[in-house]
Amino acid sequence: MSQREDDIFWEGAGQDRLMAQQCAACATIRHPPAAGCPRCGALDWNPRQLSGRGTIATWVVSKHPTKPDLEPRTIIVVELEEGVRVVSNLVDAENARMGARVAVEFHDVDGQKFPFFRTA
Ligand SMILES: [Zn+2]
Repeated sequence: MSQREDDIFWEGAGQDRLMAQQCAACATIRHPPAAGCPRCGALDWNPRQLSGRGTIATWVVSKHPTKPDLEPRTIIVVELEEGVRVVSNLVDAENARMGARVAVEFHDVDGQKFPFFRTA
């Protein structure tokens, strides 16, 4: 393995790319990062860029932010077109509903880019 499993995700985010691992044996895409394939157990994988498009599987308003003065955040679970799920924040919180189509966009937070989503 040439890279740590989660490096591709953050390096990709820095270049506005949503990345995941794809099993070299059975082509299953996996996220969050893991050492082995959950389907076939193979350890070899390749980086795979995801479309960044999907639908909201579920969402919740987080009223306990990490800093006391922050606004509540809308946390979403996105079912991506590739069949994997990612947890993120919805930028346009007023549009949160299950099944809404969303697309990724990248925002700089304290010098690190993070993937966020906006309804399409
Ligand atoms: Zn596999």
